[in-house]
Amino acid sequence: MRLLFVAPHPDDECDNAGGTLLRLSRRGVEIAVLYLTDGRKGSPCSWERGKRLAEIRRAEAVAGLKWAGIKRWFFLSYSDGELIKNVNVAFFQVKRVITEFSPHVIIYPSEFDSHPDHRAGGLIVKKIDYPSLLLSYVNWGGAKEIAEVLLVPVSDLIQEKLKFGRFHKSQFKYFDGDYIRKFFLAENERFFIKKKVNLPEFLKLTHGKIIG
Ligand SMILES: [Zn+2]
Repeated sequence: MRLLFVAPHPDDECDNAGGTLLRLSRRGVEIAVLYLTDGRKGSPCSWERGKRLAEIRRAEAVAGLKWAGIKRWFFLSYSDGELIKNVNVAFFQVKRVITEFSPHVIIYPSEFDSHPDHRAGGLIVKKIDYPSLLLSYVNWGGAKEIAEVLLVPVSDLIQEKLKFGRFHKSQFKYFDGDYIRKFFLAENERFFIKKKVNLPEFLKLTHGKIIG
């Protein structure tokens, strides 16, 4: 099985689905992560923002993926905040990655997320008609998502998920307690089922449960 995880920013692969990706990587699933933006604005301190931060975040992401046994990654390198203005061009770039990698599962940000980069990622992937299991995740807000919910249990992987997240040193130092509790200490990871293809195999590998 091949799984493509679409991350609007370097670190989204850890907080929303880190446990699921670690579990699947160990079970022999071939995983690739597609980063849409380079996260150059991802700091509350203006002096930290810019090209150098983008390079740091890229290096942190690649180190974390290698540690997790994930061997493929793609960077589109849009500036964060700019993706929503570039969805038409990005659509063809994302489509090319999907065609090349031919995933059985795509996990992508919800088009209902309140963060514009996440929302843009959702709009792009949704438009690509590809016969794979489509699971979306909500990071910021997003009460409008109404699809069936799939919970993947990850309580046995919390320590390793934290380790995966800490590769993103430039980000982790700014995560507050609520954020860490919500994403890193959660017993389950939550996905919305947007297209049911290859679902039984995914459930078998993750012990995921549909809760309606
Ligand atoms: Zn993000």
